[in-house]
Amino acid sequence: MRDIKELSLKELEDKILSWGKPKYHAGQIFNWVYQKGAFEFSDISNLPVALRKSLADEFYILGLHLADFRKSVDGTAKFLFQLRDNNLVEAVSIPAAKRTTGCISSQAGCKFACEFCASGLKGFKRNLTCGEMLDEVLYLKNNLQDTQLTHVVFMGTGEPLDNYENLLKAVRVINSADAFNIGARRITISTCGVIPGIKKLQEEDLQVELSISLHAADDKLRSRIMPVNRKYPLGDLIKCCQEYIHKTNRQITFEYILAKGLNSDSSSAQKLAALLKGLRLAKVNLIPANPIPKLKVIAPSDPEVAAFKEYLFKAGLNVTLRRPRGQDIDAACGQLKLKYEQI
Ligand code: SAH
Repeated sequence: MRDIKELSLKELEDKILSWGKPKYHAGQIFNWVYQKGAFEFSDISNLPVALRKSLADEFYILGLHLADFRKSVDGTAKFLFQLRDNNLVEAVSIPAAKRTTGCISSQAGCKFACEFCASGLKGFKRNLTCGEMLDEVLYLKNNLQDTQLTHVVFMGTGEPLDNYENLLKAVRVINSADAFNIGARRITISTCGVIPGIKKLQEEDLQVELSISLHAADDKLRSRIMPVNRKYPLGDLIKCCQEYIHKTNRQITFEYILAKGLNSDSSSAQKLAALLKGLRLAKVNLIPANPIPKLKVIAPSDPEVAAFKEYLFKAGLNVTLRRPRGQDIDAACGQLKLKYEQI
């Protein structure tokens, strides 16, 4: 059995032609799977019965099932999914006034071992397939109450640019008018700084948003808290960002967790402002650290956070502060982790 979501519209058309049926059925199937939320081929009522049977014999639509679900007092919801090989991944839906964002995992586990992040605690299992990432989006889309999925961010577990081919395939389906039809500017790829992936991304004809998880503005600290920095140090990363902005004319958002006693003092703010000074289209998104008991990270006090923001603002940077969402259900940034290894 194969995941039908691994097929592009063209590939599905070819498949249907090979069964001696007209290829326009592929568009109908896409519409039912991605827009109308059919989870079974037998639900696709306007397809010939024989075609529904051929499809069901060879393909499945949804490759995961819900293993657990928790909803926060602020409306954020966390979905724990079990994949066909029993690996577990999490996705989160985050409703706001005029949008609902799906936060999607790109890998089962994570190999990057950032010191403040729970995602890597259980190590790396494997890359998700394109179909599995689409599963997450599909499941969220079909299970939101009173709201529509408008944005997708690859900020769940894993490093999207370490799973580049599958990621890009999924992004194109999310963006495609025949499938999810979510505008590229509403799709964000977040990376811990995997330079080869950023270089590839700038060559794609896609207007997606890029976020870089920075979290420290000097190599010594960054290499300690984010081992990826030993391979792709800040000088190279910023140079790569410069090229990306030059080539795409797109803004890059730098995510910066503020953690007490680690990177939130005034000298850290100075270093951060100096590091990003030369980037034409940079935005800083400050995130007071979400508490991860095992990792002992905590946010600085509100006045400290405000002072840090103020310093960057005065230095001429475009800076925003992210409100934590879903903390009470361990669904906030960096909190995603597999609590249920055995189900
Ligand atoms: N690997 C990618 C995608 C994961 S995104 C990346 O690093 O960007 C997850 C986001 O949550 C990242 O910005 C990450 O740095 C942030 N994060 C991790 N731990 C956190 C914590 N304890 N508090 C707040 N944000 C955290």
